Amino acid sequence: MNLRKFIPAPCRGLLEIPEEIQGPRRYTMIRRNISILMFLITLVPLSLMALINYHQYQSALKDEVLNPIRVLVNKTKHSFELFLGNRLATVRFIASAYTYEDLANEKKLNRIFRVLKQEFDGFVDLGLIDANGVQVSYAGPYDLKGKNYANQGWFEQLKVNSVYISDVFMGYRRFPHVVVAVYHLSDSGEAWIVRATIDTRRFDELIGSMGLDTRTDAFLISRNGILQTQSKFYGNVLDERPDLIPPASYEPAIVERTDSTGKDVLVGYAYFNRSDFILMVVKPKAEVLKAWYTLKSELLLVFIGGVLVIVFVVIRLTRVLVERLQISDEKRELAYREVQHTHKLSSIGRLAAGVAHEVNNPMAIINEKAGLMKDLIQLNSDFPQRDKFLGLVQAITASVDRCRNITHRLLGFAKRMEVQIEVLDVNEVLQETLSFLEKEALHRNIQISLHLAKDLPRIASDRGQIQQVFLNILNNAFAAVKDGGTVAMATWDKDFNFVGISFQDDGIGMSEDTLKHIFEPFFTTKKVNGTGLGLSITYGIVKKLGGEIEVFSKPGQGTRFLIFLPKTPKEGVES
Ligand code: ADP
Ligand code: MG
Repeated sequence: MNLRKFIPAPCRGLLEIPEEIQGPRRYTMIRRNISILMFLITLVPLSLMALINYHQYQSALKDEVLNPIRVLVNKTKHSFELFLGNRLATVRFIASAYTYEDLANEKKLNRIFRVLKQEFDGFVDLGLIDANGVQVSYAGPYDLKGKNYANQGWFEQLKVNSVYISDVFMGYRRFPHVVVAVYHLSDSGEAWIVRATIDTRRFDELIGSMGLDTRTDAFLISRNGILQTQSKFYGNVLDERPDLIPPASYEPAIVERTDSTGKDVLVGYAYFNRSDFILMVVKPKAEVLKAWYTLKSELLLVFIGGVLVIVFVVIRLTRVLVERLQISDEKRELAYREVQHTHKLSSIGRLAAGVAHEVNNPMAIINEKAGLMKDLIQLNSDFPQRDKFLGLVQAITASVDRCRNITHRLLGFAKRMEVQIEVLDVNEVLQETLSFLEKEALHRNIQISLHLAKDLPRIASDRGQIQQVFLNILNNAFAAVKDGGTVAMATWDKDFNFVGISFQDDGIGMSEDTLKHIFEPFFTTKKVNGTGLGLSITYGIVKKLGGEIEVFSKPGQGTRFLIFLPKTPKEGVES
């Protein structure tokens, strides 16, 4: 499956790094591009989600806090209207239930007023006014009889509307009240007006019953901006505050505004239907939306936290990924070079073997002729300068021996390239391998100790491969010991099937962690010259030959390698 097609086209370019960019810069670019891609595919959806959440919460929460205010305004407005409506109905009832004569009679009117006060609280006085606006009779604390209202505004208004509820005003006794008046037209065409005054202390009770907290204000205000009840923040009864008037709405409504003190407030209000009053509830916005503000900062915190975690993880992850990529790239490159090197070695080996083979024959002839010369000289006792010639011939044979030794080794090296099962003596192979290292041992003063089993059975195996195994292990041992250190080897007949070979050094040893990895290809702790291939090849060969390999090591306490080789080759291994 091609994952590319799931990536939006504009981002696809991020995955392509031009070939000409190589080395560390390439990996920096890969890292940067992967990071950008991962940021895009994680942060964009996260931000969108956060935005949607934010708006949803905002509207849900706002409704949740605003609705109670609306309900409260509605309920209280109804209470007010019920109270006023009741009083108005009562006055209207009096106006139509009694005749003009009844009401004009002060005695009767006083009786009606007494009963009225018993049944309904808040009434202060009651009076009859004739069609010309003259107070005909009056029951109450003031002396208003004979007063003419004809040229007062409300009188004209009353004639049109037939009912009238005044704004709040201060009476002679200095407490606020409202006037309720009803215009009555009898069947006989006679008209009169019943007018009553109501104490508005009930208004304060109604507002008190709203159960508001100390930071919330509620009051009545008239449409021309005069406070009808006391306000906590905006003044006393009858103060003029036209700035407070909200836009007209008979349904409970809510507006946000900044009041004259600079405070942000939410104003819930409703206009009254049958009078000039507006009920207003004012709450500080910060108070109401506190829950929302907390949630908002929590949302923000979660979002920022999420972003930080993503950024951290993405950066770490891409770093690890790209580092791995870089390492594996380097390993691949190394392996490739190793293979090339092996190829080179094997062709050099073959060439060397060819040369050695060719040189061997003339050497044999030289050796033979030199031997002949020596015999001739020895037979002929009066040969001139006999001793001198004998010495020269001796020198020739010694040089020939040396040449043979060299060609022999070259042939052995070449043989290692091919798999060849032969019957061999492990002791001899070990000694032969050691001879390659003799010079180094001498030079670095490394003690070599050998405990070889005398009657070690010969085994059928591959000489070249075994030599390579020994060489790899010995190379590592030599690298591990200090100058003057010791490398000890032993061979023994382990059991019916196997011979054992041990290599013990007193070098730096290995930690448990290193031990876990030593057979992995390319695992090395050596800063220079380490390829990490020695032991993995060794392991491969030992296994291929049907043997076993074990290691024991502790840091600072040296290392012991045990190798068990089968006496007969494993099945499947060609001879
Ligand atoms: P290389 O020799 O190239 O590092 P090897 O596969 O031969 O690769 O060895 C792998 C690692 O095993 C070495 O780098 C070294 O850390 C550890 N090692 C092998 N033999 C010994 C030893 N005799 N003493 C200490 N460490 C060893
Ligand atoms: Mg090695």
